[in-house]
Amino acid sequence: MTELLGLTLAEARDRLAGGEFTSVELTEAYLRAMEAGRSLNAFITETPEKALDMAKASDERRRRGEAGPLEGLPIAIKDLFCTEGVLTTAASHILDGFKPPYESTVTANLWRDGAVMLGKLNMDEFAMGSANVTSYYGSVRNPWRRKNSEAALVPGGSSGGSAAAVAARLALAATGTDTGGSIRQPASFCGIAGIKPTYGRCSRWGIIAFASSLDQAGPMARTVRDAAIMLRSMCGFDPKDSTSVDVPVPDFEAALTGDVRGLRVGIPKEYRVDGMPEEIERLWRQGVDWLKAAGAEIVDISLPHTKYALPTYYIVAPAEASSNLARYDGVRYGLRVPGKSLIEMYENTRAEGFGREVKRRIMIGTYVLSAGYYDAYYLKAQKVRSLIARDFTNAYERCDVILAPTTPSTAFAIGEKQDDPIAMYLNDVFTVPASLAGLPAMSVPAGVGDDGLPLGLQLIGRPFDEETVLKVAEVIERAAEFKALPPGAV
Ligand code: GLN
Repeated sequence: MTELLGLTLAEARDRLAGGEFTSVELTEAYLRAMEAGRSLNAFITETPEKALDMAKASDERRRRGEAGPLEGLPIAIKDLFCTEGVLTTAASHILDGFKPPYESTVTANLWRDGAVMLGKLNMDEFAMGSANVTSYYGSVRNPWRRKNSEAALVPGGSSGGSAAAVAARLALAATGTDTGGSIRQPASFCGIAGIKPTYGRCSRWGIIAFASSLDQAGPMARTVRDAAIMLRSMCGFDPKDSTSVDVPVPDFEAALTGDVRGLRVGIPKEYRVDGMPEEIERLWRQGVDWLKAAGAEIVDISLPHTKYALPTYYIVAPAEASSNLARYDGVRYGLRVPGKSLIEMYENTRAEGFGREVKRRIMIGTYVLSAGYYDAYYLKAQKVRSLIARDFTNAYERCDVILAPTTPSTAFAIGEKQDDPIAMYLNDVFTVPASLAGLPAMSVPAGVGDDGLPLGLQLIGRPFDEETVLKVAEVIERAAEFKALPPGAV
């Protein structure tokens, strides 16, 4: 069984197709792993019965010759995706007991293609955070440990449960969402691959909204190939999401040719931030050398408005969040805390239902949107956002893809940075620019830091050019030969 868990999604797919084992056997192995891995707190809800039913149905389909691209493959879902009849919480107390009467488009696409659901994954409350320490259901633990230390580390956030589960082999792959880095940063912290596609590639329908102009779903997986396979099933035009873009979905796996000769890779000088640790610099240089050796051309580029990205994001995202989260009032969903009047019931419900970080964001958001401050903050941030997007457009005249670090550090300990929101927000310094510009971006495991923890490199592509991002990421993955497994993995 352990052998089954060692397979990548692509390998499991091919061996299932070859009849070497059944989806039920594979799913049972993962259900045992999920149980054995409970100390990581990666799951909010386990759905073993549903998983076995889905696996049985999948084996049936295969017998009938109706196998889909993800037929029989057990995966797990971030608890931000609505799953019909299955508790969906966004890791918030305010969604207590919420069982959606509908399925998100992305998860529906995955089931359409034959995938099997193991359960719903822990995350930061409403996807706000970089460490998975804001969940009502408790922190997720990173399966990795620092060299010579047993300290419990964060898996990154907000898709921390997804990253931990995939790294520890509790699921073949997982869905994540990325608003300012929530797929890429946890992927980097846990030594896995994660891609946020272009804004509009994946439908947001049925994904609990955080910041609607930034939110995108994407896969988190053990390898670039696995991410490419998952992504193809997840995305596609959806008339139910007005920002979904009607463009063809390529066969992303076919883009993994290993051939990057002549491709121009941009190195943005502004990403060389003050106080950047030497290990991050070293990894970045290593990435450049690998790509040069593979025949790519390295070009220096400039993204002059980079330093405004973080403050811009932390105005735009809370503004949209404050508006999106207005719907949680104790009337329609989840928790209700009674009061003497309707207003008091609203107040009691929201006071008890939201955690500290969510309240902080709602307060920042309502402040920057309020009369008198709107022009100074929100409108200004929107203008700067356009400038940041324009920087990328200009840069792509000189290069085809951009290489940068994913995070400014390796994973930190649970408890660290928790009392300092600014230090926490700084985690996103390399990931938010691509989010603000709506561009596809991926983190690929590229090495380890001095503390022995994984580190990712980031590739940022042109709009709807996930293929180049994936292709270059796979070349880095091959060169890095990142094979290390966390101590917790089966
Ligand atoms: N860490 C960022 C935040 O807290 C990004 C979160 C995300 O991408 N969902 O907002």
